[in-house]
Amino acid sequence: MKNNKDKVKFSDSLKNTLYILHLIFKTAPWYLIGRIIMGLVTGLKHGAELLLISAVLNAIDRGESFESIVKIIIIMACFWLAYYTFFHLYWGQMNARTRLRFQNKLQKTFFEKSSKLDLASYDTPEFYNDFVYSMKHADAVMVRTTDALGDLVRSIVGSASVFTVLFTLDPVIAFVVCGVAIVNMIFRRFKNHINYKYNKLLTEQYRKEWYIDRFFNTPDFTKEIRLTDVSDNMLNEYDKKAETSRKLTAKWYRTNLVFDAIIFIISCLSEVFVIAYMARNLFDGLILVGGFAITVSSIWKLNNMISDITDQIVNVNRNSLYVEKVRTFMNTKQTIVSGERIPESFESLEFKNVSFAYKDELVLKNVSFKINKGERIAIVGYNGAGKTTLTKLIMRLYDVTEGEILYNGYNIKEYDLDLLRKKIGAVFQDYRIFAASIAENVLADLYTDDKEEVVTSALENSTFGDRLKTLEKGIHTQLTREFYEDGTDLSGGEAQKVAIARVFAHNNDLIIMDEPSSALDPMAEYELNKSISKNAKGKTAIFISHRLSTTRHSDRIFMFEGGVLTESGSHEELMKNNKNYAKMFNIQAEKYQTV
Ligand code: ADP
Repeated sequence: MKNNKDKVKFSDSLKNTLYILHLIFKTAPWYLIGRIIMGLVTGLKHGAELLLISAVLNAIDRGESFESIVKIIIIMACFWLAYYTFFHLYWGQMNARTRLRFQNKLQKTFFEKSSKLDLASYDTPEFYNDFVYSMKHADAVMVRTTDALGDLVRSIVGSASVFTVLFTLDPVIAFVVCGVAIVNMIFRRFKNHINYKYNKLLTEQYRKEWYIDRFFNTPDFTKEIRLTDVSDNMLNEYDKKAETSRKLTAKWYRTNLVFDAIIFIISCLSEVFVIAYMARNLFDGLILVGGFAITVSSIWKLNNMISDITDQIVNVNRNSLYVEKVRTFMNTKQTIVSGERIPESFESLEFKNVSFAYKDELVLKNVSFKINKGERIAIVGYNGAGKTTLTKLIMRLYDVTEGEILYNGYNIKEYDLDLLRKKIGAVFQDYRIFAASIAENVLADLYTDDKEEVVTSALENSTFGDRLKTLEKGIHTQLTREFYEDGTDLSGGEAQKVAIARVFAHNNDLIIMDEPSSALDPMAEYELNKSISKNAKGKTAIFISHRLSTTRHSDRIFMFEGGVLTESGSHEELMKNNKNYAKMFNIQAEKYQTV
């Protein structure tokens, strides 16, 4: 998955280009076909143009009649009219339409791919860089590849036709121009590699900038910015980033200037040589003025087009470096794969010697327990004890490193992933509110009128009912101002209630709530807990909470310390044991005077 390469071998470049062509062809064949036909037609136009101009000059040289010269000029005019009509229809209509359709389809393919990625993928910085790059730039890379290929076809066909004209006039000149183009190509390749390295270094700087930008521009940090000196750190980081970017850019411009100057000097000298050589031939009577004019025109065309070929090959090659990232992203295999077993109604959940590590260090160690239908389980422990990780394993957001988790006696890996997840309703600590209506937020799906009752009662059950009455558009109120200026921003507690309503709106057998009331005041927390108890009746529920007063009435309490299940039993049993749970409870009781 690592992708630290600065260069791609020719074979890899070819593979990458074929991969991207296949992807473009699969996504939008007409975008690719149209662009290649356009390249072909434009390429042929260059040769045809020269032939028509030479026909006019030859006719004048031969002293043909005015009528026959006008005839050729009319043919030339019709040819240009036909070409430019095609040109404008293609660029003004077909290209723009097919490109947009292609970009939209592609973006959706990426969204779908990213929604299926393993969560573990996000924990790997190399992968994350490729992922961010693909999501942001993949369509531009594809468009560039298609353009580069279309242009390559144009330049190859164009230079072949012009070379033929030039070669018939003077083979020496034809080879001189080719030689110069090859030297230019070598310099352009150096330049290309330097540009790529520069872009890579700058991307690292941009990532810092995006973070700092988010830091100042999103509501997430507004309070910290005002109440602490953290913005000084960020501004300091910004200055460092700006200085590094400035130095990099200055260096890049200097290097580019040197390469551009070398390429320019070689091109000028070669053109001067060719013109002098042909002028000599003209004075020696070896060619006519018409031949001289066409040769000079061919030289410039050919020189430009061969340089373009090298540029376009370099472009395809350079793109292939970026394509590699897109390919890595698209070829990333899901390690969390679905089984086929259909989950029955929940009966039991068992952890059998489960250990788990995100990377090297175990965060859950040899955990074993069994939960039966109808039980209310509280999971408690200090920060970092592994409580949230445990819920992620149940939902198969990660798979266990060792041991197994059994749902109704079968390993959860055997079950159909989507159906298994549908059996379990989970509210995570870091729940998110989407930029959509309240109803869609509750359903986490599209809303239809027949779901009104489900949404409203789920919101009542999560004690959001009173707030709902104050909203003019009720469950159709748009949340966040991301898409709608009159959207509503909810407070932390209110948002948490909407997130909890998601669980009530779905008829899950097993409910998992990770700190469900962390953003609520004690009264609201009390009301919510009462409602949760009422609604979770007959269901199996796992609660994670720091507030032991809210979990004491659970059937069983699991105490986690450093990834190990150290105590389990009812509140009374654990208090009697007088170990760390009892200590923790007493400290909290003293603090909040809840007993
Ligand atoms: P708790 O919910 O008990 O506070 P967590 O389950 O969130 O604890 O975290 C347990 C440990 O795993 C912590 O040390 C945490 O830093 C680490 N951890 C959590 N998520 C990740 C992750 N995505 N990658 C690496 N380590 C992680």
